[in-house]
Amino acid sequence: MALHKMLPSVTRPMRSLQSGIKKCITGRHLPCWLGRCLTTEASHSSENLTNSFVTGPLTMLSEEEEMMRETVARFATEKIQPLVSEMDQNSEMDQSVIRGMFEQGLMGIEINADYGGTNSSFFVSCLVIEELAKIDPAVSVMCDVQNTLIVTLFRKYGTPQQKEEYLPRLAENMVGSFCLSEVGSGSDAFALETKAVKEGDFYVINGSKMWITNAEHAGVFLVFANVAPEKGYKGITTFIVPKETKGLSLGKKEDKLGIRASSTCPVHFDNVKVPVSAVLGQVGHGYKYAIECLNEGRIGIGAQMVGLAQGCLNCTVPYTHERKQFGQKIWDFPAINHQAAHVLTQIEAARLLVYNAARRKEAGLSFLREAAMAKYFAGEVAALTTSKCIELMGGVGFSKQYPVEKFYRDCKIG
Ligand SMILES: Cc1cc2nc3c(=O)[nH]c(=O)nc-3n(C[C@H](O)[C@H](O)[C@H](O)COP(=O)(O)OP(=O)(O)OC[C@H]3O[C@@H](n4cnc5c(N)ncnc54)[C@H](O)[C@@H]3O)c2cc1C
Repeated sequence: MALHKMLPSVTRPMRSLQSGIKKCITGRHLPCWLGRCLTTEASHSSENLTNSFVTGPLTMLSEEEEMMRETVARFATEKIQPLVSEMDQNSEMDQSVIRGMFEQGLMGIEINADYGGTNSSFFVSCLVIEELAKIDPAVSVMCDVQNTLIVTLFRKYGTPQQKEEYLPRLAENMVGSFCLSEVGSGSDAFALETKAVKEGDFYVINGSKMWITNAEHAGVFLVFANVAPEKGYKGITTFIVPKETKGLSLGKKEDKLGIRASSTCPVHFDNVKVPVSAVLGQVGHGYKYAIECLNEGRIGIGAQMVGLAQGCLNCTVPYTHERKQFGQKIWDFPAINHQAAHVLTQIEAARLLVYNAARRKEAGLSFLREAAMAKYFAGEVAALTTSKCIELMGGVGFSKQYPVEKFYRDCKIG
């Protein structure tokens, strides 16, 4: 059941969560855990916040965060899990899953309630991404891109009109895609060659993007194109391009190793004409926006890897309790449960790194180093865990009877 349905007298998903979110200092909404940590309401500058922190366990969730986590876990188990294998096999996200994520308020987590969003926090976005990844990392990716990249960019840089036009739809039923990578520019993202030429009150975009997540389902594309190639990366500008815009087309969907239910396509722009009002933020600042949200995005990917690893271990341990060899449960062999303990410890360490990075970001503290560490370590842990789980399960771990082989394939995206 969607959270908003569990709570009478509210009009929006998760509205009740807002009641526990403390509105404090300068009217900014702060999550409950942070509110609890503040001893004064003097200021919310990073320094003052740091001085007034009372430390608590990183994994201690506020009532609201715990409620959100449980709701998402139930939704994922009841509505997504039965479809995971088929979606993976067919390389297709079931429409009911996408619909369900919107209904549950999971696609506009940080969107303000005035726009119909969930009005929650970045940390809650990470919890949601983690919970979804325990069941299906492909679904988790859709949620991750929508929340940490698309919604974040609109919230931070949208004009009032752009927010009015897009935020309610992103919360309600519109999926977004983030179009940065190209054939020749991957790690070197700012070598992108897609160009936007100004013609009167319009820009005309030409070029092709690669590897675009959610492309098949997207109603809006945030496109990074260069308006002044002579200025190098300082010409990169972000454009809002609705799906139906003439000249925008999708290429053949990638047939991938993992997260197969998540659509990944090339997107082509052939004389795509958009008004100057389609520029998101400032002309020439696209590179900054991309760096910023990819920095935050690392925490989301870390959360996804933690969830994936935990989900894989959760499928494995019960099997080791059932499977008997040499007249006893294989779990009872010290060599087996020592390995499980090792993996579980690694997952917990990765979770702490991710939560710490997310909490720091939310508190307005520096988080770049922590985000990079969290993503790096969580990716390694996901690879270790999924590989180990296949071994712990013996032959069946290698087959499609159990989801561990899928987690093993999916983890390579981290
Ligand atoms: C499933 C999937 C979904 C994606 N979704 C999106 C999306 O929604 N939007 C989007 O814009 N992009 C997306 N991407 C693209 C992704 O961001 C790129 O794949 C990534 O940036 C790497 O670029 P590349 O694939 O071109 O690899 P390359 O940059 O060609 O890298 C190849 C190898 O070289 C290494 N390498 C590169 N430079 C250096 C260096 N300086 N020093 C040492 N090693 C180096 C890399 O680490 C890698 O091992 C997606 C990719 C995948 C696979």
